[in-house]
Amino acid sequence: MHDFILIGGGILGLATALELQQRFPGKRVLVLEKESGPAQHQTGHNSGVIHAGVYYKPGSLKARFCKAGNVATKAFCREHGIPFDECGKLLVATNAQELERMQALIGRCAENQLPIEVLDADQLKSREPNITGVGAIFVPSTGIVSYSRICEKMVELVEKAGGEVRFNTEVKRIEEREADLQVETETELLSAGHLIACAGLWSDRIVKMLGQTPDFRIVPFRGEYFLLPPEHDRIVNHLIYPIPDPELPFLGVHLTRMIDGTVTVGPNAVLAFKREGYRKRDISLSELAGMLSWPGLLKMLARNLGPGLNEMKNSLCRSGYLQLVRKYCPQLKLTDLKPYPAGVRAQAVARDGSLVDDFLFVKTDRALVVCNAPSPAATSAIPIAAHIVDQLSAKLNEL
Ligand SMILES: Cc1cc2nc3c(=O)[nH]c(=O)nc-3n(C[C@H](O)[C@H](O)[C@H](O)COP(=O)(O)OP(=O)(O)OC[C@H]3O[C@@H](n4cnc5c(N)ncnc54)[C@H](O)[C@@H]3O)c2cc1C
Repeated sequence: MHDFILIGGGILGLATALELQQRFPGKRVLVLEKESGPAQHQTGHNSGVIHAGVYYKPGSLKARFCKAGNVATKAFCREHGIPFDECGKLLVATNAQELERMQALIGRCAENQLPIEVLDADQLKSREPNITGVGAIFVPSTGIVSYSRICEKMVELVEKAGGEVRFNTEVKRIEEREADLQVETETELLSAGHLIACAGLWSDRIVKMLGQTPDFRIVPFRGEYFLLPPEHDRIVNHLIYPIPDPELPFLGVHLTRMIDGTVTVGPNAVLAFKREGYRKRDISLSELAGMLSWPGLLKMLARNLGPGLNEMKNSLCRSGYLQLVRKYCPQLKLTDLKPYPAGVRAQAVARDGSLVDDFLFVKTDRALVVCNAPSPAATSAIPIAAHIVDQLSAKLNEL
């Protein structure tokens, strides 16, 4: 019998396993991951940004955990010799409307007590000669890292502390009983005192396995990237983000310096027809039918029809995609957009068609499921893990 079984070898599952080991030394911790290694889904297919917490509603879990996570992620990297770069980020306004939206973001940074610098067009030019804009916000604490590297280290630490991370092991069925939980994989029936699921794209399925009816569904949104050729590795000194449209849930196509020295463009946000649909041609009819049976999906599509179609158009037509980045980096050409692997975001959609904005958890007597953990959840993983263990602590103290 294990004291804790965790589902998911992404950054949230692994950070939570470590937190449990630190708070409850000697308890048996087992992480089950269906893939052959850590960080094979969202965690290993993201922009690698250590966010500072510019956008998030003051007082929300996202605002709190992102700010704390920015500090905690860098501290983890320092402690374990994982390279990161505190390169800072620029949010660039390219017209009068964006300049106005920028004012609202400046206000939000103040509410979130986030140190920033406001730049005019000349100051922007001197910091970023290849970027054009009428003004910008400079956020110095934003950084870059490889979240896959962090996860590899976390696996090592979990194992060193006596825990086990089992790959190629998919959880197929869960039964919650009064005295324990039964967790069934293809080959084994395991027993646990408590279960924590950080299953990303499959979190609603885990809620169902626990016999609950989720009041949301996970909708996959593919984030497509391009890689710039090596001659553009130094095209920017910082990360360059557009000023986001407040009506849209995602941050907009940005220029991201990666920790390996390359620069990517992206990601967009296109509805995927399969949860792990990394390629445009990936379609699962059964998953699609499941998605369409959720009334929230159709409402969401109706509400976001224009922007959704626009994202699809730009996904199919590279010149449309290029325009998004040429707004602030006019020298880029179509031939500069080289293929790069996409990521798929797990976004919870409520019954009324709204995208669940904040982090969301579902609890039963013996289980806690992380149901919505979109960006900046990689940045926020360490404080989210502490929050999860806090949530369970009343029960855990009885152990
Ligand atoms: C395109 C993109 C860009 C992003 N950019 C950033 C960024 O720059 N900064 C940032 O902070 N955040 C970013 N994010 C968000 C961030 O990557 C995620 O919020 C974070 O990785 C979520 O981690 P996770 O552990 O919850 O999920 P995941 O990494 O998806 O891990 C879930 C794991 O659970 C496993 N699993 C699922 N079901 C089962 C089962 N039944 N049995 C066993 N295993 C199972 C899966 O195989 C998977 O490995 C981005 C995300 C995307 C997609």
